[in-house]
Amino acid sequence: MSAADGPESLGMGKVVLLVEDNHHNRQIFAQVLTHYGFEVKEAENGELAVKIAPEVGPDLILMDLSLPVMDGWQAARRIKAIPELAKVPIIALTAHAMTGDREGAIEAGCDGYLSKPISPKKVVVAVAEALGLEPPD
Ligand code: MN
Repeated sequence: MSAADGPESLGMGKVVLLVEDNHHNRQIFAQVLTHYGFEVKEAENGELAVKIAPEVGPDLILMDLSLPVMDGWQAARRIKAIPELAKVPIIALTAHAMTGDREGAIEAGCDGYLSKPISPKKVVVAVAEALGLEPPD
């Protein structure tokens, strides 16, 4: 990324599926990712995420674990079982700071996790790193 490029050049061409039931968090994360050029698709529960994931074809999934209808652990498992999505990195968003919940996220197929509260910038850095992009300063 050259100095002449704006922040939006970071995520250009990359699609992030953001699965989060908290409207406020969803809005903040979607806003910052869009600012950095990512295309953001949103789902507010795990079942919806599993349903739309194949048509969205995300480059990365941000998955809240505590979700209505179907929780994030189960949604991650189901998405990882879809052959064309099996290699899509899933970063879990967890409010649970307990080690067991982190292990549960990895066990469910998540590739990493972020503990809430998470600064919007930290989300962008984690997404960039997981996609092999140069994270913003
Ligand atoms: Mn939640």
